[in-house]
Amino acid sequence: MTTTPLTSNAAATGPWWRRLHDALMPDYNCKAATYWWVMVLLGAAVLLHALSKVLALPSGVVLQIGAIGGVAMLAGLFPVRIARSKNSFAAGEIFLFLLLLLHGPAAAALAAAGEAFIGSWRTSRRWTSRLASPAMGCIAIFAAGSLLEAAIAASRSLGVYSPGLLLLLAMLCAVFDFMCNTALITAVPYLKRNQRPTVRELFGSFGWVGITFVGGASVAGLLFLAFQQSGSGVLIVAAPIIGMMLATLHYFFRQQEADEVVRTSALEAAEREAELVARHVLELEASEAKLQHIAFHDSLTGLPNRPRFQEHLTEMFDHARSDATRQFGLMFLDFDRFKLINDSLGHAIGDDFLVAVAQRISNQLRPHDVVARLGGDEFAVLAEGLDGEHFAVVLAERLLEVLRQPFHVGGHTIVTSASIGITFSGVQYATPAEMLRDADTAMYKAKGAGKARYALFDDTLHAEVAHQMRVEGELRRALAEGKLSVAYQPLFELATGRVTGFEALARWNHAELGMISPATFIPVAEDAGLMLPLTDFVLRTACGQLREWQSRDARFCDLSMHVNVSGADIAQPNLVARVNAAIVESGLRAKHLTLELTENILMARLESALPTLTELRRLGVGLSVDDFGTGYSSLRHLATLPVNSLKIDRAFVADMQRGSNEAAVLRSIVQLGEALGKSIIAEGIETPEQLKLLQDMGCKAGQGFHMSRPLSFELVDKLLDGLIACGPDALATIVSEHAALVH
Ligand code: C2E
Ligand code: CA
Ligand code: CA
Repeated sequence: MTTTPLTSNAAATGPWWRRLHDALMPDYNCKAATYWWVMVLLGAAVLLHALSKVLALPSGVVLQIGAIGGVAMLAGLFPVRIARSKNSFAAGEIFLFLLLLLHGPAAAALAAAGEAFIGSWRTSRRWTSRLASPAMGCIAIFAAGSLLEAAIAASRSLGVYSPGLLLLLAMLCAVFDFMCNTALITAVPYLKRNQRPTVRELFGSFGWVGITFVGGASVAGLLFLAFQQSGSGVLIVAAPIIGMMLATLHYFFRQQEADEVVRTSALEAAEREAELVARHVLELEASEAKLQHIAFHDSLTGLPNRPRFQEHLTEMFDHARSDATRQFGLMFLDFDRFKLINDSLGHAIGDDFLVAVAQRISNQLRPHDVVARLGGDEFAVLAEGLDGEHFAVVLAERLLEVLRQPFHVGGHTIVTSASIGITFSGVQYATPAEMLRDADTAMYKAKGAGKARYALFDDTLHAEVAHQMRVEGELRRALAEGKLSVAYQPLFELATGRVTGFEALARWNHAELGMISPATFIPVAEDAGLMLPLTDFVLRTACGQLREWQSRDARFCDLSMHVNVSGADIAQPNLVARVNAAIVESGLRAKHLTLELTENILMARLESALPTLTELRRLGVGLSVDDFGTGYSSLRHLATLPVNSLKIDRAFVADMQRGSNEAAVLRSIVQLGEALGKSIIAEGIETPEQLKLLQDMGCKAGQGFHMSRPLSFELVDKLLDGLIACGPDALATIVSEHAALVH
């Protein structure tokens, strides 16, 4: 059933009583409002009836009723609040029951209305409550009192009346009064919500308040009995006793309340403490997790770092060993031009590039695959379940493809490629470290085979690695034991055939393998970090040797020496000091020494090498760009570099024929070089035709097998002796006589 709320738009314009309703009881529905009116009117009727009855009594009695009622109302002003509950009780109950026993329900009803009015005035600001409470209190006690009166009369007529029975009846009356009052008051909110309260809900809160009613009634009963025996003096004596009792109760509850406050605040403090500790533990755990993350992840890309990767690898390695079905592939990735990106675009772009790379690789993997950054531009991938080369190869091809796509980083478009080395857990490995080493080796094979590709580690690679490692060990020993030597290839003035100097070339005559080409052992030395001692050896030997030859005859005092330096040398900041030391030690003049750097090394490290090169030039040392034409630098670009000669790569000379494109290119290089103030040296002149062509182009200097192969120092000695004896014209004969011995 639904009820229409009294508040509606139509009501705002309705009759006066409707408007009054809306103002006084906007939350009352029809039922609740009706109930309220019934109660208030009934209460008013009871009140009027009680008033007429009391006023009919003798004035002395009326005065007594007024006095006791006044005390009841006064007590209503000072309720005793019960600790740990929302309830309170007023001492007024005692005086209400006393009035009831002394003067009947009419007197009690009047006092109850007054006491309830004062109580509700204090606790509520709504007139609905201020009127309903006294009405209900008045009705309840009137009903209860009428029942008590009837019961006492009945007991008297039955002859069972006794003071004890009076007390019992008074207490039962108090229970009835309480239940009646509670039921009447509690009904209002239920009616408002249109609900029906259960008996439990109605009287569930009996507890303290009910007991105070009963207690009040029993005290009133005792007072009444004492009054009957000793007259009204009792009441005067009782008032302060009751006051003291209530004050004691009041302070008892106050104390209890204070204790409760202390207890709850201690409890709250303990809870706060526990909460704080819990939060602290959580924070500790979080920072521990953060530390763990930092320790095992690369801060730039967020990928696992080398130590974490090694843990993953060891874990998977152990699984694969104990369970043949859990094989996995290990890939090593290295970018082909990362150094160039870093050097030319700056480290910030390099970093962004690596982050983008990490993202691209991750996107290609399955959730349980592992990708880690091992350092620099080196990444590694672990992919479980790659039961066969096929899957690994497919994944590698996919990775190569996505990494080949241009990267857009910081406004730059970077096109690069990666080389990938792959190995499998299926290959019988003793330790995870061996797997890592072989994946690395396979990656270098991929790089060696032309980059931007993948390579699988297999038996031939294994043999190659073993050989490489052997060569490396032996080269180290040969270098330490002074078993390397230097050969000298003469450089000529092409127009006259005059020897202008030599290029120093390292030689390794192996006891078992014979002569090993520098093309083989120089890369090994570079990988093994042996380039520095090797360069130093060649530099000192060649400088000392040249100084000796220069001092042999006045005509040789301007002979020069060309020495090759590698990328590793250029990267060392002390190159200038080392070169200076070699010059000073040998007593050579700086201008007689030229350092040759390949065009590729120069371009790759230009930014970092420039200060070193400038300082070398300041020292007076010549600088030459070796293998010119194989790199990507333009002549115009080279013009700004502190180099004074260019050595045209022998591939150009070899392809050159009269009238060919190469010849035209060569001719323009020679002309441009001259114009820029760089001397041009032709390399690899093998035939008289090539020599003639270069002479015709105006190329001033050159070297090659046609004039002379690289010579041992003894042969150079003889060559110079011959020159002294026969003059420059004998050069060709002498060289050809000895050439066969050298090669
Ligand atoms: P490079 O600097 O270009 O040296 C010239 C190479 O060309 C030498 O090879 C030389 O023997 C060879 N050559 C000279 N004339 C002719 C010719 O007419 N025809 C042909 N086909 N070849 C000719 P070599 O001595 O085998 O050296 C190879 C490379 O090893 C050198 O190339 C250089 O890059 C490197 N190298 C040699 N010694 C050293 C060294 O002491 N330090 C460094 N860093 N690199 C060295
Ligand atoms: Ca050279
Ligand atoms: Ca060269």
